[in-house]
Amino acid sequence: AEAQARFKARNTRSAELHAEASSWLPGGNTRTTLHTTPFPVYMSSGKDHTVTSEDGHTYTDLVGELSAGLYGHSNPVILSAMQKVLSSVGLNLGAQTVHETEMAKAICERFDLERVRFTNSGTEATLHALAAARRFTGKRKVVVFGGGYHGSAFMFGGGKRADNNVDMADWIVVTYNDLIMARKRIHMDGVAACLVEGVQGSGGGIRGSEQFLAGVQEACRDAGVLFILDEVMTSRLAPGGFASTIKDLKPDLKTFGKWLGGGLAFGAFGGRQDVMAAFDPSQPGSLTHGGTFNNNTLAMYVGHAGLTQIYTPEVCVEFNNRGDELRKCLEAVTKGTKMCFTGKGSLLASHFTEKGLQTLESQEDEVEELKDLFWYEMMEEKFWSVRRGNVSLVLGTPQEELDRFVECVRAFLDRHRDLV
Ligand code: PLP
Repeated sequence: AEAQARFKARNTRSAELHAEASSWLPGGNTRTTLHTTPFPVYMSSGKDHTVTSEDGHTYTDLVGELSAGLYGHSNPVILSAMQKVLSSVGLNLGAQTVHETEMAKAICERFDLERVRFTNSGTEATLHALAAARRFTGKRKVVVFGGGYHGSAFMFGGGKRADNNVDMADWIVVTYNDLIMARKRIHMDGVAACLVEGVQGSGGGIRGSEQFLAGVQEACRDAGVLFILDEVMTSRLAPGGFASTIKDLKPDLKTFGKWLGGGLAFGAFGGRQDVMAAFDPSQPGSLTHGGTFNNNTLAMYVGHAGLTQIYTPEVCVEFNNRGDELRKCLEAVTKGTKMCFTGKGSLLASHFTEKGLQTLESQEDEVEELKDLFWYEMMEEKFWSVRRGNVSLVLGTPQEELDRFVECVRAFLDRHRDLV
């Protein structure tokens, strides 16, 4: 209660802005992920690795726009690519452009795809990847995992989250990392695809074991089911994306989004040429995939600049090593407490549990009061973070700030020794 009172006192302008927004948006919100009680903090601007609120506080950005903000808020390569489009290319031209071909080539080469198509979000990428799988197999059902998140209409139970998906009847939900059950379900009649994240992002930074993911792929091959890997968040974890971190993992389709758009609305899905051929418009009866902004010049051009000029394979490896180092330091500091950090590479997530975090189900007993307290107090320390605990590192964040975060976590645990 005291921490919340301090939060309210520090952010009075945000409280006013939220009251105003609530007249027009349900609960003052249009992105559920960003809702917090008693009200959300309103940001007015961002620069490099920082964001500044309407209340006048400047924070180190640990939200990283849930992985879409990888490049920070004012990367010169991104800004100059945007300028170039605005001044000499033009916004949508109502036609195909070389920029979409260049972006397609860069993505296919980097992530080992034969063909790719663009969308405006990861959610749409999921939608169309599933359409391709259904067309290819002539089947409808999809095996997914509790805690899986593949877009706002594709979110699967687990913990305290409500399911929200478009057609529950078609989904078969299995516990993540439970290979025995996954195998059984994949072999059921009528299954078109198995859709899985390599590390559950929204589900709490839970890693899929190598054995689990390789086993899912093998079961899919045996059953003639398409194996779809959601790389919307995880593609940043290795130069060839998450799939390249496991020997012989070769999904039939992959979905992408977030950081690959350079900060703009973006999504993509691709993989096997024979599966993606479902969308070849020169073929009779092909699937329609319109989308006014699918090849919008800003996202194509800026995304390409980011992927090829900023997030080179070398930068990617070094950056994720930094994330692993940070996690190691945090593990040392949290040892013997209820707090732990999960995730992989530059994606982390904090948890407070009584029994330790084994599976998604053990997030059931997460101590919400401690999550709140941690969130309030990290903001007092000027770290902008997501209430639920995800940390998505931003390129260019000074090492001193990451070290300071570790020290703030240590001080938090010392201060509340009786609770943690
Ligand atoms: N898949 C994963 C793993 C995600 O984390 C997200 C977004 O958080 C999506 C898909 C959906 O992407 P978008 O928010 O662009 O629709």
